[in-house]
Amino acid sequence: MRPEDILALTPAGLCCKRGSFHIDPTRPVERALITHAHSDHARAGHGAVLATQETLDLMRLRYGENFAGATQAIGYGESVKLDGVTAIFHPAGHVLGSAQIAVEADGLRIVASGDYKNVADPTCAPFELVPCDVFITEATFALPVFRHGNPGGEIAKLLRSVSVFPDRAHLVGAYSLGKAQRLIALLRKAGYDSPVYLHGAMEKITRYYESRGVTLGELRLARGATKPTLAGTITLCPPSALNDLWTRRFPEPLNAFASGWMRVRARARQQGVALPLVISDHADWDGLTATIAATGASEIWVTHGQEDALVHWCGTRGLGARPLDIVGYGEEDDASEAQE
Ligand SMILES: [Zn+2]
Ligand SMILES: [Zn+2]
Repeated sequence: MRPEDILALTPAGLCCKRGSFHIDPTRPVERALITHAHSDHARAGHGAVLATQETLDLMRLRYGENFAGATQAIGYGESVKLDGVTAIFHPAGHVLGSAQIAVEADGLRIVASGDYKNVADPTCAPFELVPCDVFITEATFALPVFRHGNPGGEIAKLLRSVSVFPDRAHLVGAYSLGKAQRLIALLRKAGYDSPVYLHGAMEKITRYYESRGVTLGELRLARGATKPTLAGTITLCPPSALNDLWTRRFPEPLNAFASGWMRVRARARQQGVALPLVISDHADWDGLTATIAATGASEIWVTHGQEDALVHWCGTRGLGARPLDIVGYGEEDDASEAQE
């Protein structure tokens, strides 16, 4: 039995023929197992979806009640038999509800990790290392230049700026699922107890996080505030809103952006970001390589991002590796979400 006989690449994405399911398919399929609710991995229109309760709820929030023909929730550590193949969900540490999916058949274990990070995040369950034969990894930040460092230090940078410019409004661009809520939690951890303002596009998802027990302190909608009251405050918004007419309601807005991409100064400048904050929900170079080594997998399949560098690194370690070239992943993290 080769791993390719269990999971193979099809035009719709990774497919387990024996178990009649796809993982994070990019086109509508009969049965989908979904790692997490980011829109490049979780799409609407599948016949049946198996995912964690949080992922199902977040998909429902984004796509509406009829996002799939049928749904089934599965908890971390739970397994389900699908036509002789066993699937087990484990925490991926990426966003609320995110999971790695272990697929087992004939004594072989393949782990599809979706997106993951191996650092602490107060808003989701921590990444769990799952020993396996084949590890399928993302490669969003798979270049040695990407080292995310300590998010607490970036939060301190933001708070320093707020105290230096008490008459200005700080706008922080952040993806509305995961990053925004993590930023708020990090601000609270740093002792910031003023209200945090939100762009309307973030309200539903943030309230959902709270309903799942994530404590975020006092939140207000920027929409309801007058210009003078927004001086000296912090508002989170989708990245695209930073360069939008929407910013006119704020006094002397100062643009920040929280993303692993902010390690690249040119990128921050290009986007008119005055205060780049290197905070990412993806593993950095050290995280990716340490995780790959720790799984004990002898074969690594690389899905999206900087595949070449990671495949090369695996080669130097004597690991078999290949890029999967799945079209359609990685968009959530690059593109704007203002349409929400
Ligand atoms: Zn993601
Ligand atoms: Zn992704």
